[in-house]
Amino acid sequence: MQLLKDRIRKDGKVGAGNVLKVDSFLNHQMDIQLFDQFGKEFKKRFADKEINKILTIEASGIGIACVVAQSFNVPVLFAKKTKTKNIAGEVYTSRVESFTHGRIYDIIVAKEFLGKGDKVLLIDDFLANGAALEGLIDLVKDSGAELVGAGIIIEKGFQGGGDRLREAGIRVESLAIVDSMDDEKGTIVFRGDE
Ligand code: 5GP
Repeated sequence: MQLLKDRIRKDGKVGAGNVLKVDSFLNHQMDIQLFDQFGKEFKKRFADKEINKILTIEASGIGIACVVAQSFNVPVLFAKKTKTKNIAGEVYTSRVESFTHGRIYDIIVAKEFLGKGDKVLLIDDFLANGAALEGLIDLVKDSGAELVGAGIIIEKGFQGGGDRLREAGIRVESLAIVDSMDDEKGTIVFRGDE
């Protein structure tokens, strides 16, 4: 999506450790007009699919998912991060190992909001190693819902998570795929660019 690539080039900051900071329009301050364009783009890309629920993960996925959901006219469910294991059995739970943040956490969704008959689109801001998305995929599988695919705003292609998931047969649509970044020069190369 050219609009997004241009915005990343203009306002994105390449940090040490291959971290891309997009706090001015995506992860802290949020450009809602731009989010609306994301929604329209995903609606186009998944036009052949029936979707009745969007699933994301707290925290930064929620704002994006809410605006995107307006293009689909479906509810948004977000997986909650938790440190306490829920043993009561009324939630689906899965474990996420975040390499970026160097943490392991459990994510949960209530069984009453996800199950057979749901056709789920996953939405998240970043896809790097793929751990967050895999955690969400596990929740969908456990629930018996159908996984339609994943819509990602920025995929860091060089970390390999997206390609691994595609090879596993999951439809991953990313609006911008970063193939390399240079924190000294501040340059970003997108997949598909010369
Ligand atoms: P993964 O689980 O795919 O390795 O990483 C996904 C999560 O890590 C995203 O939801 C995002 O919060 C965070 N993340 C990974 N790489 C970056 C990055 O370069 N910049 C920002 N802002 N977040 C990132």
